[in-house]
Amino acid sequence: MLSFFLPFSERVRRANRADRDEPAPEWLHGRIEGQECIDRLSAFLVERLLEAGFDAVAPSVDERFRSCTTTNTVFLDDDGAPLPVSFSSNWSERHVAYVCGLGSFGLSKGLITPKGVAGRFGSVVTTAPIPPDNVIASAVYENCTMCGACVRNCPVGAITIEKGKDHVRCAEFLSLTKEKYRPRYGCGKCQTGVPCEFVTPQR
Ligand code: SF4
Ligand code: SF4
Repeated sequence: MLSFFLPFSERVRRANRADRDEPAPEWLHGRIEGQECIDRLSAFLVERLLEAGFDAVAPSVDERFRSCTTTNTVFLDDDGAPLPVSFSSNWSERHVAYVCGLGSFGLSKGLITPKGVAGRFGSVVTTAPIPPDNVIASAVYENCTMCGACVRNCPVGAITIEKGKDHVRCAEFLSLTKEKYRPRYGCGKCQTGVPCEFVTPQR
């Protein structure tokens, strides 16, 4: 398995630090157009591995996986209350990255790598015998200092020290940003202006 992390640039991160409520245009483009870049990189890696004679698949860009991946749409009942929804996916880049040893989870549910939490992950499953490198074996929340900065930054109070992240509340806010910034959406205030933004925070 091959997992990689592409951190957002300083420019993108700085822009998203400036306004505590609205996502910066740079951040929105980093998420959506940045994801297109990651999808193409994943497809390129698969192509090269197949050419080299190995089996390879990038689940996040493979139609067989995409067709049954859950979305972050919040469904409402007849009274307008959110219905319980599953936020699990049949392929989670962050969980794959954790398994591959790229870092550990934070209170905000991002994966804290040596390059921080603000960025995007990609992965390829392959039969190529790629030797592991930079493996940072760690407990699930080892890199999180529980400093609470992401709690304070969240514009809708979706993170608490006691209960972690309320995915429904976060998804509702992301849906609102989609109404405003369609076809882009995002927030990332829990990933910027925090000690784990671009490094593993020191205890
Ligand atoms: S801001 Fe602090 S509490 Fe939140 S994920 Fe980062 S290290 Fe953990
Ligand atoms: S993405 Fe935004 S709304 Fe969601 S948990 Fe992070 S700060 Fe809160």
